[in-house]
Amino acid sequence: MNGPAEPFKIKVVEPVNLPSEQRRKEAIREAGYNTFLLLSDDVYIDLLTDSGTAAMSDNQWAGMMLGDEAYAGSKNFYHLDQAIKDVLGYNYTVPTHQGRGAEHLMYSYLVKPGQIVPRNMYFTTSKVHVELPGGKMVDTIIDEAHDPESTHPFKGNVDFKKLQGFIDTYGADKIAFVNVEMDVNMAGGQPVSMENLRKLREFCDDYKLKIIFDATRSSENAYFIREREKGYESTPIIEILREMMSYSDGCIYSSKKDCLVNIGGFLATHDKEIFEATRSMVVVYEGLHTYGGMAGRDMEAVARGLREGAQYEYLKYRINQVRYLGELLIKVGVPIVRPIGGHAVFLNALKFLPHLPRDQWPAQTLAGAIYEDSAVRTMERGAISKGRDSETGENIFPKLELVRLTIPRRVYTNTHMEYTAESVINLYGKRNEINGLKMVYEPKYLRFFQARFEKLE
Ligand SMILES: *Cc1c(COP(=O)(O)O)cnc(C)c1O
Repeated sequence: MNGPAEPFKIKVVEPVNLPSEQRRKEAIREAGYNTFLLLSDDVYIDLLTDSGTAAMSDNQWAGMMLGDEAYAGSKNFYHLDQAIKDVLGYNYTVPTHQGRGAEHLMYSYLVKPGQIVPRNMYFTTSKVHVELPGGKMVDTIIDEAHDPESTHPFKGNVDFKKLQGFIDTYGADKIAFVNVEMDVNMAGGQPVSMENLRKLREFCDDYKLKIIFDATRSSENAYFIREREKGYESTPIIEILREMMSYSDGCIYSSKKDCLVNIGGFLATHDKEIFEATRSMVVVYEGLHTYGGMAGRDMEAVARGLREGAQYEYLKYRINQVRYLGELLIKVGVPIVRPIGGHAVFLNALKFLPHLPRDQWPAQTLAGAIYEDSAVRTMERGAISKGRDSETGENIFPKLELVRLTIPRRVYTNTHMEYTAESVINLYGKRNEINGLKMVYEPKYLRFFQARFEKLE
């Protein structure tokens, strides 16, 4: 089998180097076995994240030259505003420097101390931005999402029994809003179905609850709806997106993923009150409401990228490249999360390294070992990412202990996918020789970014 043919040709290339085996060993030790602390120069293929790592098109680069850097009223903001109206159907947009800027504005406005935010599954920055104003995020995703082997087509779906349970326990007035992430990152890039969103709207209307989406990967989610959900087989992606968003009151959005840019974000809403409140706060934390921390040229690239990233032919190539890598691994029995997700292949570290106890951080260990083997940089998505319980301070050990091989958009070739698969397969063959790690430094917030480890003998 070969990877999917690319719907583009390459105009500019960036050289990359493969460091020697000795340098790889040194580099990962110097980085405290945390792949976030590696120097980019020491990395051959960078699958750390799909965030801000996309290759822009000639059309986006041309748009960058049309940046209107006026402090107020930049025409690029109005292009972005129009693109969001056209592609997502929201009337009101507040620009921010990236996704967490939008989370900060949206969640600090909507969350009061002691309130609960049910969400299909937590995301790192989202959880923190709910906790800072005194809220607590709780997971309401279907059980299948916690089972790496379940092949449910929409593992991102909300479980209404769990949601009802939180309402019964806390009372609807304690629920700040219901939060739904598209193509759920921490579950392995797993989509939410249209039917689930439609039902959620009805459910929340009964309790007068607002629904806020984390729409960061909504275009990839829309592709899965078209591929898997009855009735959408030939619906244009943009129509699917607009229907999805119609079930929400608003969204936060990190442009660094599906919008094919290196920086940017926004929040968008159908709700004038949310708009006015967040627009008045954006000037305190991000910048004027017509740039929100982005340069004019950045907003132009986001506007064009939002449209490009919603094209069917592009999404088909994108999703199938990720699938190609996953299938190379499945073929030889490497344990990965199924179905293969939208933006990444996730290795099941508990099955890959069953001899390691949870507090020797199997996923962190595996990410370090892959780097040492091939200079491919991946990321831990397990107990280190999940962090500690905000009340008890204890480590939380989630069911999923994963290593994420995240594929940047339009950046790597299918041959790069084959090189990566070879390294993972090689390590799988000698997995018994891999020793665990001990955490020797732990920062207070989002510890996975800066924690340091030592290898156990
Ligand atoms: C990346 C991401 C964010 C945060 O966005 P940044 O642009 O990195 O600040 C929020 N939610 C999800 C699902 C993300 O993937």
